[in-house]
Amino acid sequence: MYQTVVGLEIHIHLNTKSKAFCSCLAEFGDEPNTNVCPVCLGYPGVLPVLNEEALTQGYTVARALGCNLSQRTLFDRKNYFYPDMPKNYQITQFHDPVGRDGKIEFQAHDGTIKTIRIHDVHLEEDAGKMIHAGDMSLCDYNRAGYSLLEVVTEPDLTSGEDAEAFLLSFQRLVRYLGVSDGNMDEGSMKCDTNVSIRKAGEPLGTKVEIKNLNSTRFIKKAIEFETKRQATALETNQRIVQETRLWNENRDVTESMRSKEGSLDYRYFPEPDIPPFLPDAAFWAAVESRQVELPLARKHRLTAAFGLSREQGDFVAESRFMADFFEQAAKESGNGLAVANWLMGDVQKELNHFNLSLEASPLTPFRLAQLQKLLDSGRIHIKIAKQLLDAVFEQNKDPEVVMREKGLEAITTEEQLSPIVDKVFEAHATVVEAIKAGDARQKGFLVGQVMKATDGRAAPALVNSLLAKRLG
Ligand code: ADP
Ligand code: ZN
Ligand code: MG
Repeated sequence: MYQTVVGLEIHIHLNTKSKAFCSCLAEFGDEPNTNVCPVCLGYPGVLPVLNEEALTQGYTVARALGCNLSQRTLFDRKNYFYPDMPKNYQITQFHDPVGRDGKIEFQAHDGTIKTIRIHDVHLEEDAGKMIHAGDMSLCDYNRAGYSLLEVVTEPDLTSGEDAEAFLLSFQRLVRYLGVSDGNMDEGSMKCDTNVSIRKAGEPLGTKVEIKNLNSTRFIKKAIEFETKRQATALETNQRIVQETRLWNENRDVTESMRSKEGSLDYRYFPEPDIPPFLPDAAFWAAVESRQVELPLARKHRLTAAFGLSREQGDFVAESRFMADFFEQAAKESGNGLAVANWLMGDVQKELNHFNLSLEASPLTPFRLAQLQKLLDSGRIHIKIAKQLLDAVFEQNKDPEVVMREKGLEAITTEEQLSPIVDKVFEAHATVVEAIKAGDARQKGFLVGQVMKATDGRAAPALVNSLLAKRLG
């Protein structure tokens, strides 16, 4: 009877070589405190320099999310004291984000298409990492100053399942755009989850913000837990306290961390060391050139064009690489349905077997299309096709080359098959006599012998018709 209301604040690490405001390498997993300099360590008297690539990527995402793009962006200082940020402030965009008021479609848990409004998209820098060990706290500033993009949704999501589906589709989107790898377990995508409940038709309820969620599954569970906790509270006449809560993954519950500080506490003011950024024509052209067909649109187009099922459509549109691979092979072979089946079935098996990604494998769209064309033109049978696929992975050769080298081409003419049938008849003369005398049950045996003698290469219809002719 209560509705769940969810708004997300999603952070992604942008795909930039260097940090947002200095030239330190933005590398993951290096020795602690090796990618640092006076700027990201907050020494006095140094000046930040804006990374234009980070801005380009930020605008690219905002544009893909249908935002109104800022003609002039400015940075602000968000002031707070905590050892993970040696400057004692974070550079962010409070007043002039790169984009506002966007909207994006996603496929909800039940398959329907829903629209989520985007409040804003803004650029900021990440903080360092604190490691608490016994009675010590260690700081690693390699991550301090990384370019982060924050995407804030309006409170339009209505269940844990939909929040999970939305996050997965957002992850796919940033990967398609090439602006982030979006891996939650590596920390390149994080999400603060805001949850409230209300009765139908009522205004929004008081929300809590859940931090520390590093998987979409936990986000879904945390939302479901919060819905129940808040409902119980309201039913027993308690008030919901606006606060920050943490997800306890051992107990599957959220726990109160602190009551929410208002935004005034941060004393936002414009960053005086970075001039306003005014995109010029070349900048807009770069943002435009980075737009891609969005994953959902691509899935719909490929599904319709090649008659795929929903499951096949999801599979082939999962990544841009897979979608490009599929589309090329489907066009080249003229049989998209079969290509999708290969990719979901035997190709996955080969990849697992050789522990390879499709990107790194010897299979190309051309080779997969060639395999399917050999099959569709009757030059090989499905069993041989599977052997050839295996050979592509084992030997890194075109299927047609392997087919020729190993003489695997199907036997499709009477001329080729006749001498083989002769030999089989010789070897099994008594069976042949028995069949001719009326014992039809043994026909299958002869068919099997012919298939065996040809290593399965004889076209079954040809074998049947030739035997029928010979046996009268
Ligand atoms: P704050 O002032 O706490 O930062 P905002 O209004 O800026 O809150 O919203 C932050 C996030 O919380 C947004 O993603 C927004 O959609 C979400 N949100 C706001 N109000 C609610 C609510 N009542 N229930 C659920 N989510 C909400
Ligand atoms: Zn630096
Ligand atoms: Mg806010």
